[in-house]
Amino acid sequence: MLTHNLGYPRIGAHRELKTACERYWSGEGDLEEVMQTGEKLRRAHWLVQKEAGLDLIPCNDFSYYDQVLDLTLAVGAVPPRYQQLAEGPELDLYFAMARGYQQDGVDIIAMEMTKWFDTNYHYLVPEFARAQQFSLTGTKAVGELIEAKGLGIEAKPVLTGPVSYLLLGKEKEPGFHRLELLPRLLPVYIALLNELMTAGARFIQLDEPFLALDIDDQAREAYRSAYSRIAEALPELKIVLATYFDGLRENASLAINLPVHALHLDLVRAPDQLDRLLAEIPSSLTLSLGLVDGRNIWKSDLGRAVAAAERAVRALGTERVWVAPSCSLLHAPYDCALEASNSALPPELRDWFAFARQKVAEVAEIASLTNSGSAEKTARLEENRRELDERRRSPLIHDPQVKERLKGVSAADLKRKAPFHERREKQQQALKLPIFPTTTIGSFPQTAEVRRVRSQLTQGKLSEEQYQQAMKREIEKAIRLQEEIGLDVLVHGEFERNDMVQYFGEQLEGCCFTQNGWVQSFGSRCVRPPVIFGDVRRKAPMTVGWSSFANSLTDKPVKGMLTGPVTILQWSFVRDDQPRRETALQIALAIRDEVADLERAGIEVIQIDEPAFREGLPLRQRDRREYLDWAVDAFRLATSCVRDETQVHTHMCYSEFNDIIAEIAALDADVITIETSRSQMELLEAFKGFSYPNDIGPGVYDIHSPRIPACQEMYDLLERALEFVPRERLWVNPDCGLKTRGWTETKEALANMVYAARNLREMGR
Ligand code: GLN
Ligand code: ZN
Repeated sequence: MLTHNLGYPRIGAHRELKTACERYWSGEGDLEEVMQTGEKLRRAHWLVQKEAGLDLIPCNDFSYYDQVLDLTLAVGAVPPRYQQLAEGPELDLYFAMARGYQQDGVDIIAMEMTKWFDTNYHYLVPEFARAQQFSLTGTKAVGELIEAKGLGIEAKPVLTGPVSYLLLGKEKEPGFHRLELLPRLLPVYIALLNELMTAGARFIQLDEPFLALDIDDQAREAYRSAYSRIAEALPELKIVLATYFDGLRENASLAINLPVHALHLDLVRAPDQLDRLLAEIPSSLTLSLGLVDGRNIWKSDLGRAVAAAERAVRALGTERVWVAPSCSLLHAPYDCALEASNSALPPELRDWFAFARQKVAEVAEIASLTNSGSAEKTARLEENRRELDERRRSPLIHDPQVKERLKGVSAADLKRKAPFHERREKQQQALKLPIFPTTTIGSFPQTAEVRRVRSQLTQGKLSEEQYQQAMKREIEKAIRLQEEIGLDVLVHGEFERNDMVQYFGEQLEGCCFTQNGWVQSFGSRCVRPPVIFGDVRRKAPMTVGWSSFANSLTDKPVKGMLTGPVTILQWSFVRDDQPRRETALQIALAIRDEVADLERAGIEVIQIDEPAFREGLPLRQRDRREYLDWAVDAFRLATSCVRDETQVHTHMCYSEFNDIIAEIAALDADVITIETSRSQMELLEAFKGFSYPNDIGPGVYDIHSPRIPACQEMYDLLERALEFVPRERLWVNPDCGLKTRGWTETKEALANMVYAARNLREMGR
């Protein structure tokens, strides 16, 4: 029985890649340093997996920014606007595609970025033209294979499969479907596979996550033709076809009949598919069992995993059964041994964890326990069972009061007192905002200085008092600047927040933090998700002090800033011993208490960010209703306690909203601000078919890129927005928080934005 892994985290256990890239981007470091860091990390990751005893170790799972962008470069699908950079170093072109390029009078916008299925990882969306050509240009995949071989590693190259690659992209002009490009992509793709084989790859993993999604007949046909053409061209090639994040369901017979060597199944998300597939698969196919959760941090139930593996072996024989994590470990943190000195963590918890490094060891262990008749096996499984029981029964995770309070929630708790149009009038009287009110999404630049102050507090180098003073100075600076620029609804700037979820997680009971549990979100951006291990409760007010202070500095309204229950859930590692719904509602109650306290403190506008609302949506249509029902309830439970006069905002970003626009309306927020700019307002199409009832601020500039948008550019976008949104309901704002930007660009961009709104007012629009 072979063991393998689908992908390892790549940013570095201590975020070495982040450091190197950011040093390079800021001009402090050089490309040499970036590449050396990459090489060091790849080597370290391969060796860890080898030591853990894995048979096949992934390569080309490493990436300097994003694996989809790697493939875009490899198959020569570089959008034409970057052609002028083609002469320079490949990595410069690559980073320009990822981040945009603004230098020496050249100004090129970045490629669009969007969520990787239902994870918090973001990939760069391939752009396709009708006459799209492909050519084999990248050498990264082959290079990494050779590198691994040099270290004596049996490496299995990983690539996004051709059909998923096309489906992940977007047509940049009308008149064709991207799957029609398959005949042009395949020769290049086959050439790439051929190079990998020539370089010695015994197996190649092609990721086709769309096989576990709802797909149409055209996509099904694309799968059949792509894989039969590859098999024809490369009969010797052994493909490991990886599916994950859901079960194959109605695509099962399609998937098992593709001419590949092995098919990987996610048996964590969809354990039930195993028995059906064991009965149906053709005798030529090997099954790779994804038994260890690649998306969460809890120790595996070894007994259950071994039982599944044994069933598979009984049906197929050891030769045709492989063991693996459910998906790439990209979504898991590195190593829970790095938490040994983490005093903030209840010691029991450490025993409940398994991070990437432990997960590969679990994979090896499951394989070695399978079909073993040894006494050690019984003892080991018993020990594992005992550990799981301890967690399930631990008083750390059960809070009877929280459970009681949740039971008492009624329909009235989920509803604002008056309907929107009545609230709107009262809010108008209270706030007296101009038409096309301007605001920002919450955070202002998290400068090195701000981060230094925060870390000095954590290290005990600053007293709480000194820290408060330093933060207040930042807040005051931000308030004055916003007044100067002429914004209408101000924010305090979120300087005290390391991260919008972590900040709250640290203050909630039932929630804990790792020291080193970093996970890549996009490019060099990493997050350290909270661990929601038990019943959630608010210990004390979490934001009221900062918001009140900011509010006291100005006559303009200052927005209170909270993260919503769905986003806190979605961006955390969540306990798996109760339905997610229940955990979401517990968090909602904690946020509700904070909302009430903010209102009591005189805050008239409160924003509850739900950037992850869409991302929580189950991948399959059939599972969505249930999620949307409780997700909407959670938001409403968190926000409905306020007076009519209090204006509730929400903010969402980076997703397709068109299919859930009715549920977004059902949140009944008074104002929603929303990301749109990177996809050129295409989001607003949603409002053609559905008239969104409340106020809306479609982002007018992309904060993920350092480029400064011109006033005219934003004015034009607003003009377009007015085709869909009535003038009295249109807000003007950037598309997300400004924490990743510098002050100079922020000032300039916001000033341009405020001018754009003024021009709109003056033009009598
Ligand atoms: N209020 C948050 C900020 O401005 C929102 C961030 C987000 O949507 N991801 O940083
Ligand atoms: Zn956002």
